[in-house]
Formats: sequence, structure tokens, C-alpha cells
Amino acid sequence: MTALSSPTGTRKQAPSAKPARVDVPALEQALLGKWADVRRQARELASRPEVHKVEGLGSAEHRRRAFGQMTYLVENKAVHRAFPTRLGGSDDHGGNVAGFQELVTADPSLQIKAGVQWGLFGSAVMHLGTETHHDKWLPGIMSLEIPGCFAMTETGHGSDVASIATTATYDAATEEFVLNTPFRAAWKDYIGNAAVDGLAAVVFAQLVTKGVNHGVHAFYVELRDPVTKAFLPGIGGEDDGLKGGLNGIDNGRLHFTAVRVPRRNLLNRYGDVEPDGSYSSPIASPGRRFFTMLGTLVQGRVSLDGAAVAASKVALKIAIQYASERRQFNAASDTDEEVLLDYQRHQRRLLPRLATTYAANFAHEQLLEKFDDVFSGAHDTDADRQDLETLAAALKSLSTWHALDTLHECLEDCG
Ligand SMILES: Cc1cc2nc3c(=O)[nH]c(=O)nc-3n(C[C@H](O)[C@H](O)[C@H](O)COP(=O)(O)OP(=O)(O)OC[C@H]3O[C@@H](n4cnc5c(N)ncnc54)[C@H](O)[C@@H]3O)c2cc1C
Repeated sequence: MTALSSPTGTRKQAPSAKPARVDVPALEQALLGKWADVRRQARELASRPEVHKVEGLGSAEHRRRAFGQMTYLVENKAVHRAFPTRLGGSDDHGGNVAGFQELVTADPSLQIKAGVQWGLFGSAVMHLGTETHHDKWLPGIMSLEIPGCFAMTETGHGSDVASIATTATYDAATEEFVLNTPFRAAWKDYIGNAAVDGLAAVVFAQLVTKGVNHGVHAFYVELRDPVTKAFLPGIGGEDDGLKGGLNGIDNGRLHFTAVRVPRRNLLNRYGDVEPDGSYSSPIASPGRRFFTMLGTLVQGRVSLDGAAVAASKVALKIAIQYASERRQFNAASDTDEEVLLDYQRHQRRLLPRLATTYAANFAHEQLLEKFDDVFSGAHDTDADRQDLETLAAALKSLSTWHALDTLHECLEDCG
């Protein structure tokens, strides 16, 4: 401690300079955010060997393992939070996404396969369907009795969903929609659960009735016989085969030739067809209707934003711990080697990415709260939905780019 002279000449002790300390529990709580308990539970689950990826499995075995792990998630009540309380869920949209994101640390294939089943297929039935659809299909979707697909993308159109070419033409004589794939580029492609496991799908198609195309709508379509697992008549498909990653998911292609589904299989929250073929919608403008329907599926983008942050954290944890312990070269001493993190170059590789990850974490928390506000109905104006869409689009791209860069950097930083 330094002694200082006061203006009066008396000597005083300087106050001891307190070393800067991070309040770790407070920081942890802030990072865990509003759904801290759910995140803790999900991390505990993701730490169990039952849900881990086994490196080196062939894709067929990896797919079987991921499917088995989905049952484990159901048994451990990890995937039903977003569904209606009356059907065994808890109407907790933010908590559901928070829990889902942490699964990336177990096996990204399992996470995305779970995302397809409950976040895309189940969510489309929930948000685009009405109560009759919920009662009929959500229990089987939740329990995994009905493994299913979200069949939107076509070979010819991915980003531009409004231009997909599959048609669902209404036949008033039988009160059915007839689904057709008009040409090869209209095959559904890269559809999770389509190659092997999917017994049903929410299929996106142009709804045509009385000779008028009312734009893209969603239809619940049975795909396979539950016992033989063979495609039902009029349905065909292919396996997308080995991918650059996520090989625990059976992505595949689907096509439809005169496949008939009952009129009531139209998920009719935003557009309906009467028995005589008359079309009605609570949203008059076709453009607005399309974006409202797609807007209900924003959960996927919100989830990936948080999962990208979670993956960045894991990589940084490994690389920073390595840098704090690994010693190379005795740069500043004749006898002691330096830890890597004492090299400025190494600090500059890791610490700005760590800072960005903190920022991405807090930005994601705001996005998740906004998402929960909209989907719980607490703040659900048009302006809220537009803000949510804008934030989700911006943050998902930034955080997934950041995750790719961080994962690669951390890999190199570990030698
Ligand atoms: C592993 C995996 C799983 C999938 N699972 C499913 C599933 O279960 N269900 C499903 O329906 N789909 C699924 N998909 C498909 C996915 O939704 C599409 O790949 C995605 O929508 C992009 O479409 P695309 O591949 O046709 O890319 P394209 O539309 O051809 O885009 C290629 C690139 O161009 C950019 N681009 C496109 N249009 C514009 C523009 N106007 N301005 C600037 N840039 C533009 C895109 O951002 C992208 O970088 C999956 C894909 C993968 C890889």
C-alpha cells in the first residue's frame, strides 16, 4: 500500500485498489436470462450420454440412434412446452425455444430432427391448423406416434416459397383436395424425416378452387403405411443420401400424383374452402395472408439464432481453456514457457469473438422475449410481429455467420 502526503503534510494510507472481479453467479444468471431454469434442465439432459453423438457411426445407424433419442426426449418431457396445456404441453413458447437451443451440445442431428418433428411439423399443425386439427393430430405428434415432415421446399424453389409449384386442387364432388407434382422441379426436397421415418407431412401447395389459385396453403397428408412403412398410393420419393453434416436426419424428396386428402385436412386458420368450393379468408390480401402464414413459422429462425450462440459458447469454452493451460515457447523468460493466452495475437483471435458472443447472447434474449410476447399474446400487434420478423431475420444471419467463424477459429486455436 502506498503512503501519500496530504496538503497539510500529514501522511495518509491510500485506499487499497480493489482488484477487478467478475461477479460470476450474477453474470451466469444474466446470461441464462428469463428461462434460466429451463436452460439448466436442458443442459443437464444434453450432458447425458444417451443423447450424445457417437462419432464414426454410419448414416443408417446414426439415423436410427437419433430416432431412438427422440423417444428419450419425449420420455424426459423435453419437447412439449410449446403445445397447448389441455393436450399435455404448457403453452410456454419462449421456454420451449430456450430448452431446444441447448440440445445442440448433445448432437446437432438430434436437435434438428427434434426441430423438424415438433418445431416445424407440429408447429405448423398448431399455428396453421384449428382446434379440430390440434385434437386429432397433436397428441400423436407430441408422443412421436406420428413422426412427420414439414414439406415446403421444392427442388426448383427454396427461398422463394411463394413460387412453389405443387398444387392442391379442390374437387367439390368428393370434398377432397387432389395433390399433384406437375414436374420434376416441383418435387419436395431436403425434407427432414421424408426418407425413412415420416408417416405424415404438412405439405405446402398452391390451393386452387373453382379455377382460382389462392396461393400457398398447408395440408395434412398421410405419407406411409404405419405398419409396412411403404409409401401410400400416389406418393413417391427418394433419399437425399449422405450430406456434409447432420447425417442423423433422413432428409429426402417427395412427389405426389393425384393424392386425395379430405377437405378438412386443409390447415384452415388463415384460409378455408366450403364444401361447394367457395374460398374464404380472414385476411383479404393474398400477399398479406402469405406473409402472415409464414410469420407463424418464425420459431425456426429464433431457435437457430439461440442454437448458434450456444454452439459458439461451447467452442470458445474449449479454446479459451486450452489457451489458458497450453504453454508454448519461453518468450519472456529463460526458464518458463508462456501460456498461449499471454500472446497478443492469440488474445486477438479469441477475445473479440468472446465479446461478440456475449453481445449475441443478450441480443438473442431480447429476440426470445419478443417472440414469447407475440406468441403468448401478451404483445401481439401487427407492429410487434413485424419487429419480430425483422429481428429474427437479422439476428439469425449474424449469429450463424458468427458461429461458423468462431467454430473454425477455435478449431485452429487448439492446434
Ligand atoms: C439439412 C437441411 C435440412 C432441410 N430441411 C428442410 C425441411 O425439413 N423442410 C423444408 O421444407 N425444407 C428443408 N430444407 C430446405 C431449406 O429450407 C432450403 O435449403 C432453404 O429454404 C434455401 O433454399 P435453397 O436451398 O433452394 O436455396 P436458394 O433459394 O437457391 O438460395 C441459395 C443462396 O442464394 C441466396 N438468395 C436466394 N434468394 C436471394 C435473394 N432474393 N437475394 C439475395 N440472396 C438470395 C440464399 O440466401 C442462399 O444463400 C433443408 C435444407 C437443409 C440443407
